[in-house]
Amino acid sequence: MSELEALFELMSKVRRSDVLPRTAIDRAREYFREGGLAIEPIGVSNIKTQIPSVYRPVGTTCPETCGYLDEYCYAQQGNVLIHQGRATGDVGAFIRSMAIGAIVGHMWFDAPCRLCVSGDLFVFDESSGHQVVDWDLIEEMTCVGRELQGLLNRKNIAWSYTHAEFEDWQELFPVLRDAGISVVLSDFAMVGGCVTWWWEHMDKELPHDPGVRYLKCPAQIAKQTEAGKFKSCAECQWCAHPMDKNFCVVFEPHGPGSDYMPLSCRTPDGMVYTGMSRADRIGKKRPAPRRRK
Ligand code: SF4
Repeated sequence: MSELEALFELMSKVRRSDVLPRTAIDRAREYFREGGLAIEPIGVSNIKTQIPSVYRPVGTTCPETCGYLDEYCYAQQGNVLIHQGRATGDVGAFIRSMAIGAIVGHMWFDAPCRLCVSGDLFVFDESSGHQVVDWDLIEEMTCVGRELQGLLNRKNIAWSYTHAEFEDWQELFPVLRDAGISVVLSDFAMVGGCVTWWWEHMDKELPHDPGVRYLKCPAQIAKQTEAGKFKSCAECQWCAHPMDKNFCVVFEPHGPGSDYMPLSCRTPDGMVYTGMSRADRIGKKRPAPRRRK
């Protein structure tokens, strides 16, 4: 029996005892700990996502070109900072956490899990001296993703976001999608991408392309209007099927410091679109960005 099959059996047994998903994750953590194996931080109580969510360390797994790094990155502030600070970046640990998240996501929520709440899919390349896409990690994710698709009899087992360049995303997206893992390209106004923009200005400021439908994240809408039933990622799952309906999800800036964040996105043909921060629009003085690691 493979490690994954053993985990699946354990989780099936735990599911029958009708415990909370958080308890199931604790049991999975114990299972790996007893075998001397580490996992990355994994949570399940986030009100927006509700599903299991896996963290990687910020910086060492991120592209150095990410405009938020050490500036407005939400994962370097608040609670996410605490969780990502416990992550190691170890590939095996991340893959085990992905397996736990996918199994618990499927059994408890009938939904895929969220990967890289913090961090990305990059690694430092000594020969070039730069951060590059971690293809060894992607190969591992692909192998385990396929195995999970079979075990769970499920097409989509996880999704993530990346700040990769468009050309890198074009390579990694189909490979991971075939293994049940969707990767949305951050800050690209295109199908399969997502952008962060103030909704009241998005119609005027985002590029107009009849092939792209901009859709506001339903979890953020629900949070702002407090109308009706709260919608979470577990119910929505748009980001887990980013190419299905020609959409590009639009998030409003959120988290500490988001009022001061200047807006920017690109299109695959290299055009750059920018927008003012909320503070600049209303003439609010901007403090120096917090730099925490
Ligand atoms: S669009 Fe849907 S799946 Fe994506 S972040 Fe918002 S609620 Fe979650």
